[in-house]
Amino acid sequence: MYNKMSLKAEEFICHEEVLDTLSYAQANKDNVELIDQILAKARERKGLEHREASVLLACEIPEKIAEIYDLAEQIKKDFYGNRIVMFAPLYLSNYCINGCVYCPYHGKNKHIARKKLTQDEVRAEVIALQDMGHKRLAIEAGEDPVNNPIEYILECIDTIYSIQHKNGKIRRVNVNIAATTVENYRKLHDAGIGTYILFQETYHKESYEKLHPTGPKHDYAYHTEAMDRAMEGGIDDVGLGVLFGLELYKYEFAGLLMHAEHLEAVHGVGPHTISVPRIKRADDIDPDVFDNGIDDDTFAKICACIRIAVPYTGMIISTRESQAVREKVIRLGVSQISGGSKTSVGGYDHPEPENERSEQFDVSDTRTLDEVVRWLMDLGYIPSFCTACYREGRTGDRFMMLCKNRQILNCCHPNALMTLKEYLMDYASEETRRIGEELIAREIEEVPTEKVREIAKKHLEEIEAGQRDFRF
Ligand code: SAM
Repeated sequence: MYNKMSLKAEEFICHEEVLDTLSYAQANKDNVELIDQILAKARERKGLEHREASVLLACEIPEKIAEIYDLAEQIKKDFYGNRIVMFAPLYLSNYCINGCVYCPYHGKNKHIARKKLTQDEVRAEVIALQDMGHKRLAIEAGEDPVNNPIEYILECIDTIYSIQHKNGKIRRVNVNIAATTVENYRKLHDAGIGTYILFQETYHKESYEKLHPTGPKHDYAYHTEAMDRAMEGGIDDVGLGVLFGLELYKYEFAGLLMHAEHLEAVHGVGPHTISVPRIKRADDIDPDVFDNGIDDDTFAKICACIRIAVPYTGMIISTRESQAVREKVIRLGVSQISGGSKTSVGGYDHPEPENERSEQFDVSDTRTLDEVVRWLMDLGYIPSFCTACYREGRTGDRFMMLCKNRQILNCCHPNALMTLKEYLMDYASEETRRIGEELIAREIEEVPTEKVREIAKKHLEEIEAGQRDFRF
């Protein structure tokens, strides 16, 4: 029986409720009166329930889809302005004992090069990332209690936070590792992580079990209930996601929103972020064998509907997507993107030889961080290297209050500009710097409160003079 307050996976992601939702959405996909009511509710910026959002996703009426896109774009502007937060993944180890059939790390893959970074190698990777200009990382690892125990992950986090190289400093480490215990989540929390990210892969239990035939990840309930354990362990910011292509996207969409509703109902705060990865070609993996691949237009529609349904939740897109797709979905709701990414273990410090490849998947957007930053600015966005919220303790519901009180323009906006200024001073090419300086001069005038604006301008001058790390 469906119960969003339940702590049991099969009750808060109830299969029957998803099926009923899909039937309801299908039955109402041409019901203009209902669609207009749902859009009117969405315009209040308070989000939508999974049934309502599923009707929008099912709707195929071109004028209504145009309205959905316009609204997603407007909500994106109202909540996130033109800021795009930058991050990079850091692969620590690809040792893995699971059997995920879509992932090249699966235990039976004997031709992928298995690698695990030593602390010296972590240092070299982090310095390479700092030299690109990154301040926010997402660490990634396969699941292997012998090779990658929690102690190893914690040691890596410590190493990452300890490295100061020139003006470089990683200020936020998000963590994407397999589902674990409350005790381990507490250790991650105490190590000062930002967001704990875990992709559900698929919410469809039967498919999930087939796609994860062996290893600890096979346990659907343990995986699906991980965010509740993470929150119990003190982690306020959790990031959801599904791997699109594995199951029917409408099923995943409903499941994703039910998961968000569950977290909000039980813990008083929804997910901090939602990621929207699509399955990619990789060593030993042919994405075409999965039947549920989605085209770029459907992908954009999913992003727009997520934006409307959960306006306070950040949306993340990786370099799995091409420049063209990224451009489209950034407009419709994505608020965080990676740049200059390598998905191999040790790939930032040195390129891998052909016969020693360890990547997780092929990257579509292969541009450098400098190119991505310039491209964003050319499109009118502010690339932001801000990590202030979590360092000021504004996590979970405190971050949500900032959004709800509309204080973003007085806080996130100047923080974005100050961190962009640091990037321009320390890492940017000449052309990027020129474009960035013009953008900062324009955008700083958008800070509404005069006092904040003046302080921010002073800090920008101080950054020019060599000081670093200011924040509101
Ligand atoms: N091992 C951890 C776990 O079990 O959740 C997480 C880390 S894994 C390195 C990060 C994510 O990459 C996975 O959750 C999965 O969604 C995604 N992934 C795996 N294979 C992929 C592929 N072929 N294409 C795109 N993404 C993939």
